[in-house]
Order: sequence, then structure tokens, then C-alpha cells
Amino acid sequence: MEARLQEAKDSIRDVVDFPKEGIVFKDITTMLKSEKHLNTLVETLYQQYKGKGITKVVGLESRGFILGTVLAYKLGAGFVPVRKPGKLPAPTYSEKYSLEYGEDEIFIHQDALTADDVVLLHDDLLATGGTAKASIDLLNRFHLKNVFVNFLVELDFLKGRNKLNTKYEVDSLFHF
Ligand code: AMP
Repeated sequence: MEARLQEAKDSIRDVVDFPKEGIVFKDITTMLKSEKHLNTLVETLYQQYKGKGITKVVGLESRGFILGTVLAYKLGAGFVPVRKPGKLPAPTYSEKYSLEYGEDEIFIHQDALTADDVVLLHDDLLATGGTAKASIDLLNRFHLKNVFVNFLVELDFLKGRNKLNTKYEVDSLFHF
């Protein structure tokens, strides 16, 4: 891996037993607070996804909003949030899912996307894949032209990628 990316990866902090015993939480705030690493992340992802005709970046609440919005701006695309219960005010589609730690449901506005959209789905981390699977199921309701799926971090040992079972291109910047 290129030195700048390796440095960014190394700056991710492990927090043991957060938010529950037995979980090693990958804390990306230690990476994002560095202007150098933030620049590396945005430029790398921009180079990867430019020219693919992406019209909307869909970011998952809440850490997927951080780079999701920046990437949307860089790609000349719009930004669409996927949110937790009780947050979106207009009619929504929803999917239930299980987390590495707990259960939840995610929502998207029914008018957020159309069949003409090419979507980049972005989140900070792929763990068990429950959130991403539910998100892809949400996106499938819109019969989109194409979808690219991107994570900053993938916990390979949890094999979340297998759960996604999707024809779409899935990529993670950093693997642990
Ligand atoms: P999952 O549905 O299991 O793939 O979990 C993914 C979501 O939970 C992402 O939105 C992550 O932000 C969060 N998450 C799960 N496990 C971790 C972890 N070990 N470190 C940091 N975030 C995590």
C-alpha cells in the first residue's frame, strides 16, 4: 500500500470493549482529525470513483455522512442520507438489520433516488455486513442503473462481504 495510505490506516485507533465487551471498535476520528490523512482519503476515493457516472452518494448514518458528503461534492453528485428510526420526515422505505452489537432499522426517503441514478453507497466500516445488506436492499427498491459500494474499513475476519451477496462492485480502502 502507498505510504500515505498506510500512515492513514495506522492512525485508526482500536478501542477495546466499546460499545460492549468483546468489541474492538475501530475509531476513525484519530484518522479524520489529521488534515493530511483527510486529504489522502478524499483524493484516493475521488480518483477511484470519478468517471463512473455517479449521480448520488448515499451515506449511512452517521459516520458515512462524513466522507460521503465530501465525495458527493468532489464527484459533482448529490448526497442522500440513510438514517436511523424517527429521523426522516417524509415517506420512507425501511429495512431491519442486525449489527455486530445489537439490532436496528434504517430508512431512506422514497423520493431520494430514481431509476436514472448511479449510486455510490458509502459507510465507514463493514463488520458483519448487516447494515450494508439492508442498505443494498433499500437501494434495490429504486431499480438503479448501477451501484458501487465503498467502505473505509473492512473487518475481513467477520466475512461481512459474503452476506452482501450482490452483483455490485464492493471495495474497502483498509482491511483488518
Ligand atoms: P455491520 O452491520 O455489522 O457490518 O456493522 C457496520 C456498522 O456498525 C457500521 O456503520 C459501523 O460504523 C459500525 N460498527 C460495527 N462494528 C464496528 C467496529 N468494530 N468498529 C467500528 N464501527 C463498527
